[in-house]
Amino acid sequence: MPGKARPDHPGLSADPAARRLVWLLPLIFVPAHGIAALLSGDTNAPVTLMFETLAPLIAAIACIWRALRSRGRARQGWMALGAAMLCWTAGIGSQLVEVLLTPAATGNGAVSMLLFVLYGVPLIFMLASPGGDPWRVRVVDGVLALLLGALFAVYIFSFVPLAGTQEDAGLLTLSAMFDIQNIFIAVLALVRFRASAIDRERQLFGTLAAFAGVYMLAAGYYNHFVDEGPGVAPVSLIVGLPFILLAVLALRAGDPPPAPSAGRIFERVVTAGSPLILPVGLLIISAALVPHMPVLAIAGCVAATLGHGLRAVLSQLHALGERDRLARMSHIDALTGLPNRRQFDEALRRELTRAARAGDGLALLMIDIDHFKLLNDTLGHGTGDARLCEVAGALRGCAGRATDIVARYGGEEFAAILPGASPAEALARAEAMRAAVEALALSSPAPAGRVTVSIGAARLLQIDAEAGPRLLERADGALYDSKRAGRNRVTAAWPVDEPTQTARAGSG
Ligand code: GH3
Ligand code: MG
Ligand code: MG
Repeated sequence: MPGKARPDHPGLSADPAARRLVWLLPLIFVPAHGIAALLSGDTNAPVTLMFETLAPLIAAIACIWRALRSRGRARQGWMALGAAMLCWTAGIGSQLVEVLLTPAATGNGAVSMLLFVLYGVPLIFMLASPGGDPWRVRVVDGVLALLLGALFAVYIFSFVPLAGTQEDAGLLTLSAMFDIQNIFIAVLALVRFRASAIDRERQLFGTLAAFAGVYMLAAGYYNHFVDEGPGVAPVSLIVGLPFILLAVLALRAGDPPPAPSAGRIFERVVTAGSPLILPVGLLIISAALVPHMPVLAIAGCVAATLGHGLRAVLSQLHALGERDRLARMSHIDALTGLPNRRQFDEALRRELTRAARAGDGLALLMIDIDHFKLLNDTLGHGTGDARLCEVAGALRGCAGRATDIVARYGGEEFAAILPGASPAEALARAEAMRAAVEALALSSPAPAGRVTVSIGAARLLQIDAEAGPRLLERADGALYDSKRAGRNRVTAAWPVDEPTQTARAGSG
């Protein structure tokens, strides 16, 4: 939808012309790279390496640009992708520097190998994150991801001669290790993409899956089938392709791919299971290290177990806090902050049981704002909401005892349970509430010129199974009487089972 705000897909999607322009990047870069490689005729020529350095650098800039225009988890994900691209840029860049300084060098230095390994760390960190975790949990994940990268590097360097040739057994192992890393990332990205129901995340993981898939094929072909040296330079194009694809996808950000058909259960399993990637990865690398470095292997296993345990404890703490917060929220009226209808119903049941045991009866007030519809229609819903909050505050201020419960019953209606209150006390409390609202002197188009409430009071002495509905019905009837008698008053419906008090009290 051109021209419309698209906060969730903040690439160049808003402008179709800009989206088309992005394709200029591969159209210019790839032929230029090919020509440069052809002319130089050597995979290790500085000009070839320069294009191979430029490609991931462009991808890094595109991902960081995209991150800066994204929000929340998507921003972190694009940043992680950008960080991975910077690692790769630094890796190939160090080869370029090496070749420039020592023309005879093969460009297989330890630093570049380490950086190619580290490239996977931010990606695996991002793929392992289910999203929505507190920062403490993210720190544990970050430490586990770094450990995974460190052990991976140790493993590689324990086998690989720092500057070897393709015939070295070590280099074959290195290629296999890179294959494993690439397959791991590509498959995980595809799974996260398939399981994500959120547009922003699906775009992120979809882009990573496309990039990682092409990168896996390109790296596999390059590592296994290309002999470095003169005469094969054009295959250097393969190195740049995945990065240019990533840059285009990051910049373009078209409509998100359609939501996956995979069900909610698959989504939940993937989201809940993704943090396992880090400890499982650590355990696999540790197992591979057992024959060569048993102490380090044990340390890796311990770190995986403790890290996962610590993560589980921190996540559980967070989940318990969230559960309590939601439980509190489900009992509080969001507008006024008073107990809501649910909490009122629970309190009424509880107080009826208590009153039945104690035999001291239970009083209830129903309170309704007068002519509130007129106020809403005249002054607007916003003012109506503000008036509701002020009335709620005044009513709460009149609760005489700690055990009194003033709740928002619904709409512009409130209810108060007054445990242990005698009829006279209940009436006094109701009158105090009415007067307190009137004293707020909130302007209103109602005939009284200010916001007032009508109140119905009821009290039951004999509590039986039907006491709750009966009490509410009587309080409601008394409230209706208050309205009929002219509003801004209190009417008490004292119980027929309480023979001493059958009067109706009007105070207005
Ligand atoms: P009466 O004196 O007979 O009680 O008249 P009334 O206009 O107060 O009663 P009525 O039941 O006709 O209208 C209640 C109004 O309360 C209608 C509805 O728009 C308004 N209302 C209910 N809940 C809210 C809310 O959360 N915010 C606002 N602003 N208005 C609300
Ligand atoms: Mg009303
Ligand atoms: Mg009402």
